Amino acid sequence: MVVYNLICKKNHKFEGWFPSFEGYKKQARNGQISCPVCGTSKVEKVPHACAVHVKREERTPEKSRPNPPEKPVPPVLTEAEAKEMLIRLHQYVRENFENVGPRFAEEARQIFHGEVEARPIHGTSTSEETQALDEEGVPYTILPKPELDS
Ligand SMILES: [Zn+2]
Repeated sequence: MVVYNLICKKNHKFEGWFPSFEGYKKQARNGQISCPVCGTSKVEKVPHACAVHVKREERTPEKSRPNPPEKPVPPVLTEAEAKEMLIRLHQYVRENFENVGPRFAEEARQIFHGEVEARPIHGTSTSEETQALDEEGVPYTILPKPELDS
């Protein structure tokens, strides 16, 4: 059974009980629903709370799409914070990675090809060397220096 709030053309509101929505539609179509106050069969369903809710749900995505700036923006690092992170990164690498100095490209290539024991390394390389690593597909990362003069 479903209960609908109904309203007649004279604005009398009342409840109607029906076996289902289909049952309501059938009775409404056949003029079998009449207002208990004035007896008219010109009645219709009061927009249901649920129906209103559904309409809101339909509108929400359309509304939210053109307004992405309302989404919280991730905090941007300040220059000092970025520098601090870089200094920590360099410190971490110095403490945990083996320093192979200028042999970096050669060591990285050997690790990549499994010729030497795989281990985290850091060091320096020329742009020609890094280009060669790129061509061979050897993974590496260039760490920007936190201080331009260091
Ligand atoms: Zn009525």
